Amino acid sequence: MTTPAHARTILKALTRHHPNADTELHYRTPFELLVATILAAQSTDVGINKLTPALFARFPDARAMAQADLSELETLVHASGFFRQKARALLAMSQALVEQFGGEVPADIDALTTLPGVGRKTANVVLGHALGVPGFPVDRHVLRVAHRLGLVQGDDPVRVENALCALFPKKDWTRASDTLILHGRRICKPRPQCRLCHARALCPSAAE
Ligand code: SF4
Repeated sequence: MTTPAHARTILKALTRHHPNADTELHYRTPFELLVATILAAQSTDVGINKLTPALFARFPDARAMAQADLSELETLVHASGFFRQKARALLAMSQALVEQFGGEVPADIDALTTLPGVGRKTANVVLGHALGVPGFPVDRHVLRVAHRLGLVQGDDPVRVENALCALFPKKDWTRASDTLILHGRRICKPRPQCRLCHARALCPSAAE
């Protein structure tokens, strides 16, 4: 059973690799981060950062996007993959934001997850980075790295989120998640580069 003290030691080791861990998505407002995070599913942050400037210039807020023509939205998000599904999600999410929250992104996970296309992971990304509310987004990288490091067990994202939240102080949740995500993208990839990993002495899965 991992202790909070051990988890903090691991985070310290990983922070040496990723000292300024943060989301790699570009945004200026909570709405922009919400949109970018929805688009980033099954895509890359780099790819999304290439298409969002034109998207946000055309639809800068929820009120503008709620009135978008679906085919124009599809064209603007085409490069993100699954563009039809994502364009529909953005339109429905923006309309719900206007109808239920006056066009403002609510700083509350229960409210955020009522929006179409917004799950806990997306909500936690927006809360932690754009709204000053600590959240612990759990994506596939967090799941993989946290398992390998022995921080959590099981595959259920909500249980894993709760287990990770219990291991770290609330103020560190967003940074800890960002650090695990970057570690999963850069070093602890599906084929891990254990030789390069500062946490290998602490990791039960470290390759010889
Ligand atoms: S030692 Fe290897 S498996 Fe463990 S966290 Fe580092 S890269 Fe991942």
